[in-house]
Amino acid sequence: MIAADQLTYDYPGKRALDQVTFSLAPTSITALVGPNGAGKTTLLRCIAGLDEPYSGSIAVAGIDVLRRPRDAHRQIGYLPDHFGLYAELTVRQCLLYAGRARGLDSAALDARMRDVAAQLDIADKLQDKAGSLSRGQRQRLAIAQAIIHRPRVLLLDEPASGLDPESRAALSGLMRRLRDEGMTLIVSSHILAELEAYCTGMLVLQHGRVVEHRVLEHSSRADATREIRLRLSRPVSGLRELLTQRGVTISSHDTQGARFSMSGGDDALSSLLQSLLAAGLPVCEFTLEETSLQDVYLKAVEDHRVQP
Ligand code: ATP
Repeated sequence: MIAADQLTYDYPGKRALDQVTFSLAPTSITALVGPNGAGKTTLLRCIAGLDEPYSGSIAVAGIDVLRRPRDAHRQIGYLPDHFGLYAELTVRQCLLYAGRARGLDSAALDARMRDVAAQLDIADKLQDKAGSLSRGQRQRLAIAQAIIHRPRVLLLDEPASGLDPESRAALSGLMRRLRDEGMTLIVSSHILAELEAYCTGMLVLQHGRVVEHRVLEHSSRADATREIRLRLSRPVSGLRELLTQRGVTISSHDTQGARFSMSGGDDALSSLLQSLLAAGLPVCEFTLEETSLQDVYLKAVEDHRVQP
């Protein structure tokens, strides 16, 4: 749904993107992360067709963004990190204006305006001026403006900044719903714990380069490889053999426990545990070791740190 190929972008005297290449599947939600100055905003602006790269190409829904920017804009919603609203317009006028500017036909516009206002929980603010809204309400109006034309791709630059905890939780829910409706999202943020709740992939930028691109494995997926920690209440000789016979890959072990990985979904896990109990093992702990976004991120950034 989104493909960048060898994207390079230069500011005067500064290379912000360096041969960035990746592709994102439809209905994925990708966390775009990286240290300050890594190039996240620049990348989002290039995908949105607002900045023209020095070289390389970008396609959104099969449309070449550089060659057909107008067509691409119909498929893209974009929330910049610093967005502006027309302070003297009411929320209703802002949404109608955004819809018209993005080519919605006037017959459908009013109903669609009410839909997005309800979706973003600002339906009771339709008659208020944008300039009178709180930071969080302004953020929600800006997101409503970005999705009013039902884009297939939504780019959000730091969407949770300035939101209270309740609004952040609501935003997570909204992203999942938009994805369920068929949208593909990229979300730039520094709040990894929140991204973890809804992202299906992570793209790490550092010094303008992609240093990690990972599809996150969700533990219920049948083909996922999971790390498991096993602990026994007393030592058992031959634990290693018992485990390897059951097709797992052991990373460490002693007579009273082991860490190992195995592939398969929840059914495979359940069968393994039953089989270990049936073999008489005094299992007192059988735990999934989840790798967090934070772990993957910190490792990627550390591995690519430029030595002084
Ligand atoms: P942050 O997490 O701080 O928002 P970012 O990952 O979004 O950072 P960018 O804003 O894309 O990073 O900036 C990438 C690099 O380009 C930085 O080194 C920045 O200093 C530089 N840069 C950004 N905008 C300009 C500009 N208008 N002129 C010159 N250099 C710029």
